[in-house]
Amino acid sequence: MNFCDIIENKKRGLELSAEEINFFVDSVVTKTVPDYQISALLMAITIKGMSDNETFLLTKAMAESGEMLDLSMYESTVDKHSTGGVGDSTTFVVLPIVACFGVNALKMSGRGLGFTGGTLDKLEGIPNFNIVESGEALQKQIDNVGIAIIGQSQNISPCDKILYALRDVTATIDSIPLIASSIMSKKLAGGSKNIVLDVKVGKGAFMKDLKSAEILAKLMVSIGKAYNKNIKAILTNMDSPLGNYIGNSLEVYGAIRVLEGAQNRLLEVSLVLAETLLKMCNIDVDRAKLLEVINSKQALNKFKNLVSAQGGDVSYIENPEKLIYTNFKFDVFAEHGGYIRGIDAIKISKIVLELGGGRKTKDDKIDLAVGVELHKTVGDFVAENEKIATMYYNNDSDILLCQQLFASFDIGEATEEKLIYKTIE
Ligand code: URA
Repeated sequence: MNFCDIIENKKRGLELSAEEINFFVDSVVTKTVPDYQISALLMAITIKGMSDNETFLLTKAMAESGEMLDLSMYESTVDKHSTGGVGDSTTFVVLPIVACFGVNALKMSGRGLGFTGGTLDKLEGIPNFNIVESGEALQKQIDNVGIAIIGQSQNISPCDKILYALRDVTATIDSIPLIASSIMSKKLAGGSKNIVLDVKVGKGAFMKDLKSAEILAKLMVSIGKAYNKNIKAILTNMDSPLGNYIGNSLEVYGAIRVLEGAQNRLLEVSLVLAETLLKMCNIDVDRAKLLEVINSKQALNKFKNLVSAQGGDVSYIENPEKLIYTNFKFDVFAEHGGYIRGIDAIKISKIVLELGGGRKTKDDKIDLAVGVELHKTVGDFVAENEKIATMYYNNDSDILLCQQLFASFDIGEATEEKLIYKTIE
């Protein structure tokens, strides 16, 4: 089979056959096709789309491109995944909470994608943190601590690892079949029985409106069900950054603050995801019970156990200020007073990208420390000249970007924000 013919067929909008899809995945994993041809096919798929059947076939081939973990020996296993957002670090809050209720929580994560942050990059802000990369290591960790973060590797989801890195830098992310196959192949390979998907909708998400988010959610849920998974998708608002911190190490800091008791929109969405997962495992919880594991510091200890089990320096969890270490910081003040109606997630993430917090090419090295802290967020009232944000940066010329920071805030009359839209099951 000739790879160029497959590109040509998709360019003309034809449906790819199972043989063509398997040849595509096999060529990627065996590295017998150059990046430029893979990228051309990714672009053709982004523009021409795929039928549901093609997406099912692609997901299956991608999941089976590496080890498929078998966790059937455990009573309750849970996994979660976000379709990608800004300041979206729910994993660090949800997994420790659910693990406190005795379920085995493991997450197959990825790196930053486009304007969104990636769990694996964020965790690298904790010195020596290792991503679990084999089924054997994973099982040991589940037995010991009941919580693990694993990544795509040579062994697990190798096809997604390669496609993901290319999509990040070739404008081929916002494609429903590519997102569905990327996420669901990882969830299938990860082996958990209960899966909750956080499908982000809005300015700071790949799905800009509810209609496309719902199509993506239904497709992923149907793939999960075909594999006998207990799966739900929750559509959540991503117009404004979710947490108060945007940037890799800063987002770990922000999640630790939530595990220490800070109340904000990141906590709200995390509680909904945690409650959904626990109920899917027939564990009856309510908000009070979830907050209890935070207030008693059990969830924070679980996170510390996770970091320690994966080799990370736990002094960064005990003293999270160590995660904030740029050469410079600059405070931004409100030019006028009013209610914060929204904070443009794309503008903020582009600032963080320019500061070095994301990749522009595949081999770029990320500056893990840079980013933005929001002192005020959606719904808050700010007075004129009140401090609303701080930019953390390492190159003094980047100071100019702080001018764009205030422009990201929409301040005016109070409005209501809906954070959770609907559940697809
Ligand atoms: N997260 C993933 O793992 N893949 C995507 O394509 C988007 C978000």
